[in-house]
Amino acid sequence: MRKFLFALAVLVLVAAAAFFFYLPKRIDAGMNGVAMKPPYTASDRARALHQRLFVADLHDDAFLWSRDLLERHDYGHVDLPRLEDGSVGLQVFATVTKSPRGQNFDSNPSDTDTITALAIAQRWPPRTWNSLLERALYQSERLHAAAAASGGRMQVVHTRAELSDVLKDARPVGGRMAAVLATEGLHPLEGRIENVDRMYDAGFRIMGLTHFFDNEIGGSAHGLTKGGLTPLGKQVVKRLEEKKMIVDLAHASPRVIDDVLAQATRPVIVSHTGVQGTCPGPRNLSDKHIRGIAATGGLIGIGYFNGAVCALDIPAIVKAMRYTADLVGVQHVALGSDFDGATRTAIDTTGLVLITQALLDAHFTDDEVVAIMGGNVRRLLLQLLP
Ligand SMILES: [Zn+2]
Repeated sequence: MRKFLFALAVLVLVAAAAFFFYLPKRIDAGMNGVAMKPPYTASDRARALHQRLFVADLHDDAFLWSRDLLERHDYGHVDLPRLEDGSVGLQVFATVTKSPRGQNFDSNPSDTDTITALAIAQRWPPRTWNSLLERALYQSERLHAAAAASGGRMQVVHTRAELSDVLKDARPVGGRMAAVLATEGLHPLEGRIENVDRMYDAGFRIMGLTHFFDNEIGGSAHGLTKGGLTPLGKQVVKRLEEKKMIVDLAHASPRVIDDVLAQATRPVIVSHTGVQGTCPGPRNLSDKHIRGIAATGGLIGIGYFNGAVCALDIPAIVKAMRYTADLVGVQHVALGSDFDGATRTAIDTTGLVLITQALLDAHFTDDEVVAIMGGNVRRLLLQLLP
């Protein structure tokens, strides 16, 4: 009997170890793959230009996973060593707090959630199990802790003064990388406008309104009703502008985009998206909305995943960039990878030089490449941050 109990205990321990240690890594590696494996090689001309660029990407979800950002990994898309290899000067990190089962592109109810199980399996603190706000705050804490432990290699920037300071010795000359904190959807507000201030105080500056389901703020491009901003949503957008936070329309329903464009007095961004002109799909921008976002002075970050550009290769990314630039001007185009967003992408962050090369091959000028690869993001954040 004692032998049996011992064997049972060992079995339980092995199962627990698998659940808490092995499984999260396997899920991360399985869900954040690449079509082209590193190392990536580019032309001498592209490498020379890339090394003097300020590279900025508008969207990564690395903090959804248990991956240590300061360590190098051979899975997932981003960690600090690989961001440095990619010559990245600024990375936006978004927090994911709730995601419906199946994560359908066309339609999702809001009554299922896969993040609860992931949070428990990854040993997130119990306060995050039942609170979407706590999940966002916990990921913010992890980003700030990673920056504090980075030995000066990464700094979270919350103000234009902090960004200016980092830019003085930013990459590509071996300096610090700036990080900006964002949320995928405002369901962490838990329906309370006061929580805008809590998120601001926790360092959030870029605010996606909806993610894969309709929330208290408005309709998702992947939701059931595809509705516009709710009355609370209109108040929240006003509050975000007062706080000098940046509204992100990625995953927003077309009606929410219409409502925000009618109300916005500051530039808005779409951090990770595709455009209907090169890739039709429920979450990709119509020409009308591209023009509307550009009219605010905003930015459109082009994603590297199939749902955004209808292929898993660099030419498809550059095609969407060319389309957008031709429609509204190159000053509105940016990188919006969606790295680590439970997405398969063309490359990981060490392969960004291939985008520089493809932009050159597509006859963008050096100045235009500088703008798309990060210059536009730098300009807008220096304008919009508090
Ligand atoms: Zn997303």
